[in-house]
Amino acid sequence: MKGKSDLKPALPPAAGPINRLIEEFSKLPGVGPKSAQRLAYHLLRAPAEQSRLLAEAVTALKQQIMLCPVCCNVTDTNPCAICSNTERDHTRVCIVEQPQDILALEHTRAYKGYITSFTELSRPRTVWGRVISIFRNSWRD
Ligand SMILES: [Zn+2]
Repeated sequence: MKGKSDLKPALPPAAGPINRLIEEFSKLPGVGPKSAQRLAYHLLRAPAEQSRLLAEAVTALKQQIMLCPVCCNVTDTNPCAICSNTERDHTRVCIVEQPQDILALEHTRAYKGYITSFTELSRPRTVWGRVISIFRNSWRD
């Protein structure tokens, strides 16, 4: 005997590749089933070039992004652009909450020191020659 949930599928029937893409988009944070469906159908109607560029960007993200060995920020160069910039102030270190906060701070162009994030410093690490210990889980949640 089928339960009530078997009678109402979460997604309307669609071709396999469309449902697969909707399922994958639905796994992203902040993307519910309806948004995932809208994105999938948008790509279906968009030029093939847009889908190819999106697929290449996702692939490059996983293949090319690493942690900078100096500051532990996410980067595609070794060291990252911040650490390799000799014009930055070596005497100042700013620690932000999330790696994406580094981009926001960089966009202000107001800070010229080094930057790293709490996320990448969850264990004691040596950053720019100093041991930095942050016990993130002791004060969060
Ligand atoms: Zn770095």
